[in-house]
Amino acid sequence: MDYYGSQIGKLIEELSRLPGIGPKSAQRLAFHLINLPEEQVDHLANTMMNARHNVRYCKTCYTLTDQEECPVCRDMQRDHKTIMVVETTRDLAAYEKTGKFEGVYHVLHGAISPMLGIGPGDIKLKELMERLQGDVDEVIIATNSSLEGETTAMYISKLIKPTGIKVSRIASGVPVGGDLEYIDEVTLLRALEGRTQL
Ligand code: ZN
Repeated sequence: MDYYGSQIGKLIEELSRLPGIGPKSAQRLAFHLINLPEEQVDHLANTMMNARHNVRYCKTCYTLTDQEECPVCRDMQRDHKTIMVVETTRDLAAYEKTGKFEGVYHVLHGAISPMLGIGPGDIKLKELMERLQGDVDEVIIATNSSLEGETTAMYISKLIKPTGIKVSRIASGVPVGGDLEYIDEVTLLRALEGRTQL
């Protein structure tokens, strides 16, 4: 039953497709939006559209950015010979928040999961290997400590070892199955400092 007329109904339906938004929240958000001044809604819609249209992968590390190369990769003060491999842009943000990592990153956009049918070709692994043909001293694997994260870490270390580049894995201070972005900065720092060579 469409109690509200199709426009409101459609808005509620679209909002309820967003992650973490149930039917009740969708309804609440829809009425909130409808009660906002028109220009505020225009601004919100434009911000969403601009972000969607302009955000792309950094050509070097594959994090999400609105420039050809992200600010971390463009920063010449950083150590470009130390690359930390993370699963997502959110993980990168978590490490950046600690302010203590001076190297650069590589974002895989996922992890290998035979169960979900995600293979090495489905993440940005080939791109990492291409990068390693340049001048690189160390690769720190900071994938999550989930089964998928560990599988990916093992796979990557096997690929890199023959190149002679140092490979290390962050310490297992990161709880199993815990997403990096929810872990506090102290734990992240400890995991980074306590990394072991593979
Ligand atoms: Zn980058």
